[in-house]
Amino acid sequence: MGELSAGDARDRFWERPLESLNKTEWEALCDGCGQCCLHKVEDADTGEIYHTNVACKLLDLKTARCSDYPNRKRIVPDCTRLTIRNAGSLEWLPDTCAYRLRADGEPLPGWHYLISGYHEAVKRAGVSVVGRVVSETVAGPLEQHIIWPADMEGWEIEAESNPWDVT
Ligand code: SF4
Repeated sequence: MGELSAGDARDRFWERPLESLNKTEWEALCDGCGQCCLHKVEDADTGEIYHTNVACKLLDLKTARCSDYPNRKRIVPDCTRLTIRNAGSLEWLPDTCAYRLRADGEPLPGWHYLISGYHEAVKRAGVSVVGRVVSETVAGPLEQHIIWPADMEGWEIEAESNPWDVT
């Protein structure tokens, strides 16, 4: 997602309704966790979605950022574009996703960089995928990489934690 440009974003825009955000504000809402860029596996019989630790080939595993964000839909046609309409209804988005939280009328967590002032806080909060996933280019069958629900529990964090205080 994009970086925040001074002048394009209004004061405390992240407290405003999603539908009132401009493009810069919308892009800046992303915490950069990278969790939405992990592959999911759907059970053909039940429709249940299982998470994996396999990242899209475009995800930069060192930064958890898309390596070609402007062209992602052309390169990966099934890449899901978050919108005001779907942000609150995509079940596989993490509970911590800023778009999901705001779509539900919830505040951003204290570790979000817009609140804490630290981009790295998403890693210290245990929410970033950096260091925890593999690329689809080397992963092999997705079914061998299912991590939900057991391993995802380790990703849950306290909303009031102050990860930037960790040394
Ligand atoms: S899950 Fe949400 S907050 Fe995390 S990278 Fe994706 S869009 Fe951004």
